[in-house]
Amino acid sequence: MSHFKKVLIANRGEIARRIIRTCKRLSISTVAVYSEADAASLFVKEADEAVLIGPAPVKKSYLDLEAIIQAAKQTGADAVHPGYGFLAENGTFAERCAEEGITFIGPTASVIRLMGDKIAARKQMKAAGIQIVPGVDGALRSIDEAKQVANEIGYPVMLKASAGGGGIGMQIVHSDQELEKAFESTAQRAGSYFGDDTLFLEKYISSPRHIEVQIAGDVHGNVVHLWERECSIQRRNQKIIEEAPSPFLDPVAREALCAAAVKGAESIGYTNVGTMEFIVDEQGQYYFLEMNTRIQVEHPVTEEISAIDLVEWQLKIAANLPIDRGAIPSNPSGHAIECRVYAEDARTFMPSPGKIDALVVPVEARLEFAVTEGDQVTPFYDPMIGKIITHGASRAEAIEKMKQALQQCIVGGIKNNLPLLASIMDDSAFQAGTYNTKFVETLLKG
Ligand code: ADP
Repeated sequence: MSHFKKVLIANRGEIARRIIRTCKRLSISTVAVYSEADAASLFVKEADEAVLIGPAPVKKSYLDLEAIIQAAKQTGADAVHPGYGFLAENGTFAERCAEEGITFIGPTASVIRLMGDKIAARKQMKAAGIQIVPGVDGALRSIDEAKQVANEIGYPVMLKASAGGGGIGMQIVHSDQELEKAFESTAQRAGSYFGDDTLFLEKYISSPRHIEVQIAGDVHGNVVHLWERECSIQRRNQKIIEEAPSPFLDPVAREALCAAAVKGAESIGYTNVGTMEFIVDEQGQYYFLEMNTRIQVEHPVTEEISAIDLVEWQLKIAANLPIDRGAIPSNPSGHAIECRVYAEDARTFMPSPGKIDALVVPVEARLEFAVTEGDQVTPFYDPMIGKIITHGASRAEAIEKMKQALQQCIVGGIKNNLPLLASIMDDSAFQAGTYNTKFVETLLKG
């Protein structure tokens, strides 16, 4: 099988549009699934077919895997692309697709489950010889055990939900007293968000960088990397600006990090595209953080420096084709930056839903937008309205292009983070590339 004939996209917004674009180029027809809240959305119009799967709340629509399987069967889709979020890292969904003879565009259900469990993933990577953040090896059984481990490692520590994601279910703890409170609240939060209150803890790395490696593996045993992305510009432990390559790594460090990522992915027989996330301390020591078994929000910066369409790779790998190693350039080309535009208050980072009465997008940048003028940003989904990506021969050129793009961009009617993004581009520490994950917090205090 060279290609699929019809792909159902089990997602919404900008990533659904992104997947549709590649499918169109490859002459694959597309099926969108949508909730009542998204009936007028661009991705629904752009897909060849669209199936209403339920009301606005995610549990009744984008997380209703049986409704999505039903839509795939009804439209005769031969594959399902899960995008990111929603069901992308749900082993049961991957399994249900397989049972129905529909190809799930991603790794196997067992690999999804293994890497979705942060405790299991840590064990696996440690066994593969990759440095993990120092911490407890298994699940914490009690507050007393947590205190004992925290004292052995030394405060501050990071208490985490094994099933956590999206910056949720994670708490920095500085003392035994704080740990007592955090243990209960984090377990409760994890239970309600992920249906699993298993906790572990690890050393809190101070002033770190978040650097991740794009990898890809095929069913023929090839595993490759497409360099790293620097994702340290975050708020609430979630990324807002990403760039590739990382300004922090020299060629030797880059080679070591990318080799570790490939080794980790090989150890689990990884298939499809995925991301190995690392946290890097001030001395340059890197530690495995977690693996995301799907396409990442920030994949465009990798596409810009590699001239590779990652969604096309996903489709080909899922169709059992071998990775074309010859398509990978010997070095990354230039530098790329992505800014995520959010409908949110720039100071509190709380979502700001409402009607977008005006939208002017930049002319000379790559755009991955979910919305058009007149659209509503609803409170039901992630408030990211789009991404702006620039590419230049140098980092300075990519920053300059981003500054201009942000100046041209206007979002009216809702609060948004465009002014924050612009102030980051103007910041001397950002321009020097000497920032870490504390950057946004420090900028707002200053
Ligand atoms: P999630 O799965 O919720 O995205 P991650 O484990 O990927 O959580 O961590 C998200 C972010 O939280 C990291 O990019 C980093 O900024 C911060 N973080 C996570 N673990 C640590 C740690 N041990 N020390 C310092 N910061 C951390």
